[in-house]
Amino acid sequence: MSAAIVRATAAELGRRIAARELTSVEVTQAFLDRIAAHDGAINAFLHVDAAGALEQAAAVDARLDAGEKLGPLAGVPVALKDLFCQRGVPTTAASAILAGWEPPYDATVTRRLKDAGLVILGKTNLDEFAMGSSTENSAFGPTHNPWDVERIPGGSGGGSAAALAAYLAPLAIGTDTGGSIRLPASVTGTVGVKPTYGGTSRFGVIAMASSLDQPGPCARTVEDAALLHEVIAGHDPADSTSIDAPVPPVSEAARSGDVAGLRVGVVKELGGEGYEPGVEERFAEALDALRAAGAEVVEVSCPNFTYALGAYYLIMPSEVSSNLARYDAMRYGLRVGDDGTRSAEEVMNLSRGAGFGDEVKRRIIIGTYALSSGYYDAYYGSAQQVRTLIARDFDAAFEQVDVLVSPSTPTVAFPLGERVADPLAMYAADLCTIPSNLAGNASASFPCGLSDGLPVGFQVMAPPLADDRLYRVGAALERALAGAGGCVLCDALADGPAGAYLDVAKEA
Ligand code: GLN
Repeated sequence: MSAAIVRATAAELGRRIAARELTSVEVTQAFLDRIAAHDGAINAFLHVDAAGALEQAAAVDARLDAGEKLGPLAGVPVALKDLFCQRGVPTTAASAILAGWEPPYDATVTRRLKDAGLVILGKTNLDEFAMGSSTENSAFGPTHNPWDVERIPGGSGGGSAAALAAYLAPLAIGTDTGGSIRLPASVTGTVGVKPTYGGTSRFGVIAMASSLDQPGPCARTVEDAALLHEVIAGHDPADSTSIDAPVPPVSEAARSGDVAGLRVGVVKELGGEGYEPGVEERFAEALDALRAAGAEVVEVSCPNFTYALGAYYLIMPSEVSSNLARYDAMRYGLRVGDDGTRSAEEVMNLSRGAGFGDEVKRRIIIGTYALSSGYYDAYYGSAQQVRTLIARDFDAAFEQVDVLVSPSTPTVAFPLGERVADPLAMYAADLCTIPSNLAGNASASFPCGLSDGLPVGFQVMAPPLADDRLYRVGAALERALAGAGGCVLCDALADGPAGAYLDVAKEA
């Protein structure tokens, strides 16, 4: 029974809970049991809120028993990246500087999950303040990839993606500043969507780089991601960059999966040298599948994408240096050395020195430098100009095609520890994902098979507010590549080679 529960899709769980064949409490308990049994090996969760989750589940059950009609995901559990404020629940951003902090309010995304009757299981691990590509920058230890626990689960949202891949949760929430939803989805064989910038609210999300950060849905199937997208998206007056426009029809697109006549542009610059052969092969096969489903595939050039990584690593740290100035040890968070003999400035220095990890400090220093007078125009100013050129590349490309595609990341999951000492190698993992953050358009990663037993991701990029096109392509791929299991990951689980993940998931 509980194996069937944890293996079901979120859509299926929602239907069975609404039909009262299952209670939300039963479903929630099945996932809590599985987390208790297996998260020791994965470290997907920083905090499991068992009591709070069961309380939310019982409340949803009571509403449904009373005949209330709730949404399609009512009663279904979800894992929340520990970057979202949740009232009264520890929220750390995986940083020692926020250890033990409990927000006095809910993020808009958190509140919308609760309002739709979803049950929040707990807070998932991430790179500190979402800065990283492997979840190794967490102050609370790395998350392990369920496909091979010696490898990275991607970052920064490795905890959310690993929770899905290990069947510790049916749904999860991430944030994507430079790829933190799509990269973990890619290397764990799951679905991850970065909505159009402004499509989901940043209110109550601990800020990394405000002009780039965007919350989004993570799931094992395209339909599940779409249903979750609809729960969290939509205008929020509390976020000044929130777009006041209808939510794109994403679940309709996920159900349709019709790509007949869709013009698909392969970005010439996102492939070739540095891309693993296994990644390029799966990508090519996915293109064949789209062609077979009636899509028109052409090559498109976006010459300025080559400069995206360089521009991002100036703009992002500049915003980081400003956003993280709020951790001053005076109002909340860690305070070190306040023994009555030191000045406020000395206490700030000691606290920030002790509370921030190396990568966070590196970015604060780079950002402060890039913004300093005398260097501002040369660094921050020119990076912003490049950002505009990249947005223009997208505009020109979307005159010719409906969506752009590329591999989600140049390689499959790399071994834990391999790139920790080499920040530039780590940054290269985001080569394909960053252009969409700089331009603010919608983008997603969908599983497209395995290379040497490890998942490969297929990235789709769509114009702003055309998020539904992502789901259309994702659903077409899922149909072409998945068999009876309904998702690519489930099939690999049934047929794939033995591995730590398979053992973990088969025991379910
Ligand atoms: N890996 C990228 C970085 O370290 C992206 C992080 C993110 O999207 N939060 O900046």
